[in-house]
Amino acid sequence: MPGKSRYYIETFGCQMNVNDSEKVAGLLQADGYERAPSAAAADFVFINTCAVREKAADKLYHALGRLKQAKRARPELVVGVGGCVAQLQGTAVLDRAPHVDVLVGTHTLSRVPELVRRARAGEGRGVDLDRHADIFDVPDAVIAHSSAVRAYVTAIEGCNHVCSFCVVPRTRGTEVCRDPSAIVAEVRSLVARGTPEVMLLGQTVNAYRHGDVDFAELLARVDAVDGLQRLRFTTSHPEHVGTRMARALRDLPRLCPYLHLPVQSGSDRILADMRRGYTRRRYLDTVALLREHVTALALSTDVIVGYPGETEADFEETVALVDQVRFDGVFVFMYSPRPGTTALRLPDDVPEDEKLRRLKLLNGLQQRAQAEAHRARIGRSEEVLVDTVSQEGHVSGRTPDFKIVHLEGPASLLGRLVEVQIQAAGPNALVGSAPGNRSLTRPSAAPIF
Ligand code: SAM
Repeated sequence: MPGKSRYYIETFGCQMNVNDSEKVAGLLQADGYERAPSAAAADFVFINTCAVREKAADKLYHALGRLKQAKRARPELVVGVGGCVAQLQGTAVLDRAPHVDVLVGTHTLSRVPELVRRARAGEGRGVDLDRHADIFDVPDAVIAHSSAVRAYVTAIEGCNHVCSFCVVPRTRGTEVCRDPSAIVAEVRSLVARGTPEVMLLGQTVNAYRHGDVDFAELLARVDAVDGLQRLRFTTSHPEHVGTRMARALRDLPRLCPYLHLPVQSGSDRILADMRRGYTRRRYLDTVALLREHVTALALSTDVIVGYPGETEADFEETVALVDQVRFDGVFVFMYSPRPGTTALRLPDDVPEDEKLRRLKLLNGLQQRAQAEAHRARIGRSEEVLVDTVSQEGHVSGRTPDFKIVHLEGPASLLGRLVEVQIQAAGPNALVGSAPGNRSLTRPSAAPIF
C-alpha cells in the first residue's frame, strides 16, 4: 500500500501567518496528508508569504527558485503559494513563476486541499484570490498548532487603520471580529488538550468589538477559561488602549503583564505623516496610564527608521522617546516603500546607509538598556513556562513578562511552570536554574507532552 502523501509548509512573517499555516497544515492532515521533514521529502510544498517589507516579499521568489530546480527533478511535485504576497501581487506571481500550481490569498486558505487534489489529478492550476471571508472557517480541532505550549488563536482579522507605510489593509482587508463564543470554545478545547498558554491574535487586536463585547470583555471571558495558565495577545494599537484595557491587565489573573505597542516614531511630524492617529505626548500618556495600573508592565515596540523626509532631528526625537520609555524590546525596521500605500508617493529620500546607521544606533541603545534591566534581575526568582527544548539537557521558556530564560533541565519540563533562580543575564535573555526542577503547577491535562 503506498504511504501517505506528505506536505511541507514554509512560513514567512508574523504570528498571524504562522497561525494561517497551522490552519492549512491541519486541513491537509484532515485530508490524509502527513507533515514532511523537508521540502525535498514532500509531495506538496506551500509557501505562506509576507509582504510587509520588500525583503520579506523577495523571499518568496528565492524559495520559488529553489523549488523550480526540485520540480525539474520531480515534475509531480505540487507547489503552492499563499498569503500576503499572493493577495497583493495576484496572478503576477504566476507570470514570474509559472511552476506554481496553487495560488491562494489570505481569505481562501481553506481551499488549499481541494486545489492540491485537483492539481495532482492533472486538472490544472488552482487559483483563488477572492476575498470571501473564510478566515474563521477552520474548525479548531483541525488546526495543527505548531507549539504545544503557546497556541495562537485568531480574534480579529484585517485592519481598519490607514497607516501611510503599511500594506496590511491591502493584503488582509478590513477588520472582521470573530464571535467571542467561538474564541472561548477554541481556548477551552486547547486547554482540554493540555495547552497552558494562549495568545490572541489580530493586526490590531485591541480594536476588537463584537456586539457588546469589547476587547477588555473578551480578555475577561478567555481569562476565565478553567485550566488556562497564561493569556497573552498581540498586536495592540496605541489608539485603542484605554482604562478598561489597563484594568484588564491589572486585574485578570492569567493575563500576562506584557504589551507590544508599536510607536513607529517619536516625531509628531512623522507620526502625522504616517497617519498613526496619536502624537508623541499621547503615546507617552498611554504608557503612563498603563504603568499606573501595572507598575511592572513590560512594553515592547516597533520603530521605522528612514521614513520619507525623516530628518536627523526627527530621528533624535525617536531616540529620546526610546530612551525615556525604557522599553523591554524594540524592533527597528528600515523603511521599505510598499505598493498601494500612500507613502509610496513620497520620495524614499533617506539613503540606505543612513537608514542602517539609525537602525544600528537604536539597536545599540536598546541592547544596553536591556542588558542593564536584565542584570537587575540576577538573584531573583522567576516563574518560567518552559516552551522549548534547545538541546540535550537544556530548555528555555518565558517569564510572565515575556523574558527568555535558559536553564538546564530535561525535555519533560516542556509545558511546565517552573520556579527559576536567575544567575546570569545578557541583553536578550536570562540564565538560571530550577532547584530540583521544581514544577509550580501541572498543565490541566498532559497527554501531548
Ligand atoms: N499591525 C501589525 C502588527 O504589528 O501585528 C503590523 C505588522 S508588521 C509585520 C510589524 C511592523 O513592521 C510594523 O509595526 C512596522 O514597524 C513595520 N512595518 C510595516 N510596514 C513597513 C514598511 N513599509 N517599512 C518598514 N517597516 C514596516
